[in-house]
Amino acid sequence: MDCITLEKKVTAANYDPLPVVLRDAKGVWATDTQGRRYLDMMSAYSAVSLGHAHPRILKAMAEQAAKLAVTSRAYHTELLGPFLEKLVQVTGLDMALPMNTGAEAVETAIKAARRWGYRFKKVPKDRAEIIVAEDNFHGRTTTIVGFSSDASYREDFGPFAGGFKLVPFGNVQAIADAITENTCAVLIEPIQGEAGIVVPPEGYLRELRALCDRYNVLLILDEVQSGLGRTGRWFAHQHEDIRPDGLILGKALGGGVYPVSAFVGTRELMSVFDPGSHGSTFGGNALAARIGLEALAVIEEERLVERSAEMGDYLLARLREMRSNIVKEVRGRGLWVGVEVDTSVVSARAVCDALLAHGVLSKDTHGTVLRFAPPLTISREEIDWGMERIERVFARAIH
Ligand SMILES: *Cc1c(COP(=O)(O)O)cnc(C)c1O
Repeated sequence: MDCITLEKKVTAANYDPLPVVLRDAKGVWATDTQGRRYLDMMSAYSAVSLGHAHPRILKAMAEQAAKLAVTSRAYHTELLGPFLEKLVQVTGLDMALPMNTGAEAVETAIKAARRWGYRFKKVPKDRAEIIVAEDNFHGRTTTIVGFSSDASYREDFGPFAGGFKLVPFGNVQAIADAITENTCAVLIEPIQGEAGIVVPPEGYLRELRALCDRYNVLLILDEVQSGLGRTGRWFAHQHEDIRPDGLILGKALGGGVYPVSAFVGTRELMSVFDPGSHGSTFGGNALAARIGLEALAVIEEERLVERSAEMGDYLLARLREMRSNIVKEVRGRGLWVGVEVDTSVVSARAVCDALLAHGVLSKDTHGTVLRFAPPLTISREEIDWGMERIERVFARAIH
C-alpha cells in the first residue's frame, strides 16, 4: 500500500495534505520519495524558521538527548534557567513559564490573565473577561476554539467556556467599546497569520497599548507564528515599539525539531502562579530547554532577524511586481507574505497544487490566500529560484 493510501486509512482526516510524501529535508530544501526536490516556502507554519536539520540544533539535540532529556519539573536542571534567562532578555520581559505547544502557552496566558484580573484588578469571582479578535487563530483546545469565529473550528465541539468577547481585528474603537470593569486582558495576534497574513493599520498596537494602560487591562500578544524574526523584527510588536504585558511564543522556539513554547510576562503577571497552579509533564524539560536556548542563539548569531527583514523586502517586492490577473492583494512583513487570489477565477488550493508540481511548497489558508513563509535562512538566489516557478504558475493561471 502506498504511503498516502495507508495514511488515509489509519489517520483521522483532520488535515487535507498536499499529495506529496516528503522523505528528507535540509535547510530550505525538501525531497520526496520520488527524489523530487522542493523549495520549502511554508516552514511548517514557522516552526522551521531556522531551516530543516540545522547543524547546531541537531548537535545540541543529540548531545542533550544522550545526557539528560526529561525529568519533569519535580527537579531542577542546569538548562531551564539559562534558556528562560535568554528568553526574557530577547523579549524584554521578566519571567517565563515553559510549555510545549502553542495552544498550551495560550492556555497559560488565559490562566495568568484571569488570575491577575481577580488578584490585582479585583474583578468579581468568575466574571473576568478577555477581549479577542474575529478571525483569530490561537490553537485548537476547546477553550481556544470556543472563542474562534471560524465555524469549522467549532462545529459540534461545544459547550464552550465563557468569558471571551469577539471584536473586529484592527479596530481600536471596537476594543474600547468592549472594555468593561471586568476586562482583564486583550489577547490578539499582532499580525493575523491563519486569517491570511492580515496586517493591522499603522498605529493599531500603539493605540491599543495606550488604551490598555488607561483602563488597567493587560495586553497579551500571541506571537507563536509572528515571533522570533518572522516579520523582520524579533517580535512583530517591535514594529510599533511597544511592550506587551504577556507574550506567547512557540513554533520556531523548538528549532524545527521539537515542540517548545512559553508564556513570557512581567513579574507582576507571572507572580500569579504558585506551586500546583499550573504545569506540564514535558514543559521545560532539559532537552527542550537546550534546544530552545540553541534556537535563540542561532537566530541571534546568524542574524536571522535582519536577514528576514532584508530578504522579506525582496520577496514582497518580487511578488508585488508579478504579472497575474488572479492576484487580489499581496501583503506581509519580513519573510511572511500572503497572496490573496481571486477565487472567482481559481481556488488558492489549486494554485498550491500547481506550485507543488513546479517544486514549491506553500499552503493556502481559508481557500483564498497563498502563504509564503520560507525558513529565515533563505538566500536571494533561492528566492529567485522560487520566484521563477511562482511567476510561471501565476502567469499560467491568467486565462
Ligand atoms: C500555530 C499557532 C498557535 C498554536 O500552536 P500549536 O503549537 O499548533 O498548538 C497559536 N497561536 C498562533 C498565532 C499560531 O500561529
